[in-house]
Order: sequence, then C-alpha cells, then structure tokens
Amino acid sequence: MIASQVANPYLPVPVQVLAIQPQTPVDYTFKLATDIEPAWGQFVELSLPGFGEAPISVSDAGPGYIELTIRRVGQVTTALHRLKPGDTVYLRGPYGSGFPRDEFAGHQLVVAAGGTGVAPVKGLINYYAGHPGELAGLNLLLGFKTPADILFRTDIERWQGLFPTILTVD
Ligand SMILES: Cc1cc2nc3c(=O)[nH]c(=O)nc-3n(C[C@H](O)[C@H](O)[C@H](O)COP(=O)(O)OP(=O)(O)OC[C@H]3O[C@@H](n4cnc5c(N)ncnc54)[C@H](O)[C@@H]3O)c2cc1C
Repeated sequence: MIASQVANPYLPVPVQVLAIQPQTPVDYTFKLATDIEPAWGQFVELSLPGFGEAPISVSDAGPGYIELTIRRVGQVTTALHRLKPGDTVYLRGPYGSGFPRDEFAGHQLVVAAGGTGVAPVKGLINYYAGHPGELAGLNLLLGFKTPADILFRTDIERWQGLFPTILTVD
C-alpha cells in the first residue's frame, strides 16, 4: 500500500471477511478484520469491484474487527451476501458523527429503532449495559415486521433484563 492511500480517508482499503452469521434469511452479520475504531453510530462505505458501494452502519466493534449487519435488498447487498469467510471486501470510513454520549450523560434516554435500524444503536445500548449509572435511565422501543425478522435476539434478551423494553412485531 502506498503512503498516499494510508493518508487518504476516501480511498477504499481491502479487508478480509472473518465470519458471516445469518440473522434471518435476508439479514447477515459480517465480521471484518480492520483496525478502525468507529464511534457508536458511525457507518462505513463497503464496496465490491464490479458491483458498487453501500453505506452500512457499524453494529459492533472490538480490537481488530468490526461487525456489519446487512439486509439483502439490491445489487451490492446481494453480491455481499454471496461472500464467504476469507474473501476480501473494500472499506472506507468510518463516517458520521456517532452518538454524543457526553450530552446524554445524566439524562433519561429513549432509543427507538426498527429493522436494520437497530444496527447503529446496538453498540450504544451494549455500552450502557456495561456502564450502569452513566444515564438517569434508558428505555428501548424496538420494532420488526414479524417475529421472523427480529435481529440481535441474544442482545435483545439481555437488554430486556436490564432496561424497560418494548419489542413490537406489528
Ligand atoms: C448511513 C446509512 C447507514 C446504513 N446502514 C445500513 C445497515 O447497517 N444495514 C443495512 O442493511 N442497510 C443499511 N443502509 C442501507 C444500505 O446502504 C442500502 O440498503 C444499500 O445501499 C442498498 O444497495 P444495493 O446496491 O444492494 O441496492 P440497490 O440495487 O441500490 O437497490 C435499492 C432499492 O431499490 C430496489 N430495487 C433495486 N432494483 C430495482 C428494480 N429494478 N425495480 C424496483 N426496485 C428495485 C431494491 O429492492 C432496494 O429496495 C444504510 C444506509 C445509510 C445511508
């Protein structure tokens, strides 16, 4: 990789797919090897040569990896769903402001999200699960089209034990 590529945040860089976990028949979670450190709420631009590029929210992250939960709706996302662990995708970012946790501190927070829209708030909710007391309180309102469309089931079961949570499928 040449130096200008490292310095230019708009150039896609190749990253390896570490794992792919189907959440529903049309929503897969991709674990990608990368050292970027996105704030909760940020997104990346993901591309496949010959197919195009799509903005996707970071649904989880840790040392050396990020996770993206991608619904198959069109050209790029269908091509992404055909990938296998070990394949290469191209990534640039992260972009967006992320959630202003400093402004939320000490306040009552309500998080309302639905479908793949739960992806960008998943990391934020898990952060507060690990930092009780940073907020005055956290209420969750999560919606999916049908029970079969529910994403992040393990996380949601844990959140239901920690925060007042309304989970709707209507
Ligand atoms: C900031 C941001 C964050 C996002 N985060 C996520 C995320 O975390 N997870 C996620 O899954 N998505 C996310 N999205 C949405 C995602 O970017 C889009 O779903 C993706 O770009 C679609 O690209 P595509 O090439 O697969 O679809 P396209 O081919 O561009 O199709 C888009 C839409 O048009 C429809 N369409 C395509 N071709 C036709 C046709 N011939 N006739 C009729 N309709 C057609 C498709 O069914 C689809 O609904 C995010 C978007 C933004 C802006």
